[in-house]
Amino acid sequence: MVNYLMTNKKLPAELPQAVNQQSRDGKISSGFPKHLIPKEARCKECDYVLSDPLLITAKGRILTTTGVVEGISTYRRSCLNCGVIYRYQELEDGVHNFDDHIILSLHLCLMIRNALQEADVLLRDTLEAARWCERQTFKGTVSLPSVIGMDGEDRITTLKELRCREDEEENILLKEPFMFPFQLQRDYEKFCVEAVDKKKMTVFTS
Ligand SMILES: [Zn+2]
Repeated sequence: MVNYLMTNKKLPAELPQAVNQQSRDGKISSGFPKHLIPKEARCKECDYVLSDPLLITAKGRILTTTGVVEGISTYRRSCLNCGVIYRYQELEDGVHNFDDHIILSLHLCLMIRNALQEADVLLRDTLEAARWCERQTFKGTVSLPSVIGMDGEDRITTLKELRCREDEEENILLKEPFMFPFQLQRDYEKFCVEAVDKKKMTVFTS
């Protein structure tokens, strides 16, 4: 069953545009289904018929980027022969079933994923650029970003704050822990050629 879910029901790397759009509009048009019933009728393992849908909860919630849709019923079906259980997981409805109680709109899933990926890239590139700086000799002084010295939890908090920034002024402040401050223009240029031009890194400099 896990195999089946992994190959057929996991979130694809690229979602079809129409599915994403539908998910985005779902809340407004009340387009999300109220009853989430597995669409399978026969077992994928043994091809036997599945049981009638069995209610798991009538108090499920769909989380979207704009709010929460309450009162969602989720169902499971089981194979009457081998006992494999089928949960609801239909991406074309614009939702991702997290645990039968919490359901995420695909639009929300994508937002979370993008935020995580961006944060990941910034941290990875900042660490790599710092390692490169340590191997160089610069004419002036270069301090490494303060995020380098933080432990894992502080790094995540710092990234989260940067992600939730609201205005431009605050933005500069929150970028601070990721900054490579250069004293001399020529050092700054050397760094930019390597990190930005050559390696196409996401880094902040000042
Ligand atoms: Zn079966």
